[in-house]
Amino acid sequence: MNAEIISIGTELLMGELVDTNSSFLASELAKLGVEVRWVTKVSDDPTLLREAIERAWKRSDLTLTSGGLGPTSDDLTRESIAAAFGEEMTVQEDLLEHLKGLFANRGFPMPETNIKQATLIPSAVTVPNDHGTAPGWWAEKDGHVIVAMPGPPREILPMWENTLAPKIKARNPNVCIVTRNLKTFGISEGGLDEMLSTLFLSENPYLGIYSKQDGIHLRAIATASSDEEAWALIQPVESEIRRVVGEDAIWGTDDDTPESLTSALLQKKGLTLGIMECFTGGLLASNLAESEGSRMFLKGSVVIHDDELLGAHGVDSEIITRHGTTNPHIAEDMARAARKLFNADVGLAITGLSEEATDVSGPLGTSHIGFAAGDQVSSTSGHYPTSRLRLRSRASTHALLGLIRFLNSAL
Ligand code: ATP
Repeated sequence: MNAEIISIGTELLMGELVDTNSSFLASELAKLGVEVRWVTKVSDDPTLLREAIERAWKRSDLTLTSGGLGPTSDDLTRESIAAAFGEEMTVQEDLLEHLKGLFANRGFPMPETNIKQATLIPSAVTVPNDHGTAPGWWAEKDGHVIVAMPGPPREILPMWENTLAPKIKARNPNVCIVTRNLKTFGISEGGLDEMLSTLFLSENPYLGIYSKQDGIHLRAIATASSDEEAWALIQPVESEIRRVVGEDAIWGTDDDTPESLTSALLQKKGLTLGIMECFTGGLLASNLAESEGSRMFLKGSVVIHDDELLGAHGVDSEIITRHGTTNPHIAEDMARAARKLFNADVGLAITGLSEEATDVSGPLGTSHIGFAAGDQVSSTSGHYPTSRLRLRSRASTHALLGLIRFLNSAL
């Protein structure tokens, strides 16, 4: 089965609204084994919209549209489908009663303009929408289906999960798609590409490589007639990647994030954490604070931009005098100081030179990350040849992955 997605709305073409609906639907369709061939954005213009819908209906087995189901005169998705199918929209009494009931519950009468949300064409049935007034349409003619959904993502998600995904799955029962995402850090995209060049030639599973904020991801996608068969295709590829790339370079899989793994590990070991940041502007603590159960382990964090304040927070002034403030020695002492300051089991600290730094005692975009627990300290350094915007994020990922390694080896 192949599919096409049409995102409808003039604001999408003016750059005022980001089209998240099509990426959501594309990833969901991929999970159902449906091949998305086209994604179109079209304005509310009646001629262009009708053209887009007609073209999609003719060339695609399944077309999903989002937007344009509202009550106003520029909401024309239903009208365009009706025109493409050559059918007339008629008001459905049961839908009208339901709609009037929704307005009555809100305490005001239904405006006349909303009546069109209670219409159908002979080739369509409604898709219930529990979070808005506009029901969706499942319209089918000559073996081709058009599904019309409203624009708001909070309305699409439940419609998708409750009705549409099961219905589409039932149409495509013998295709199972399984994906496995291996997340790496420390090896460049080009390096991985070279190391795994033969695996990239395989069609099933298909192996993709993606540069992300938290490293390079390797995603294997297998298609088969059952989940078991698809996993059996993935398994040897995963083993080969792990063998060639090395376990050390692979920090996580699928939905893992550096924060979720750090949080889980600290909680599993029953350890608390104190942080001192001179490089990441609070990002490290902020990211960790958002992870589940962070109150259980994150005791506190201090963000220092003025080197003069390091001493006041317990960092040894002699080390500063001897080595300066951006080096592995100071990162280790900062980690010790963070641990003490927050009375935590583990201290994590990061210092370094970002682009704005005036100090030139090292290459810009270099960080030094310190770890401390009991009488054990260690450090690691990283250089990030990336834009200023990504710098802190890369350093934060590096710090958390380094902390995981430290916790696993030292404690
Ligand atoms: P409503 O009845 O709420 O007007 P509608 O079906 O007419 O629904 P639109 O008016 O096109 O939908 O969009 C309503 C809102 O839904 C937009 O303001 C926007 O917040 C969100 N939305 C629409 N299309 C998209 C999209 N492609 N990606 C993300 N959000 C979208």
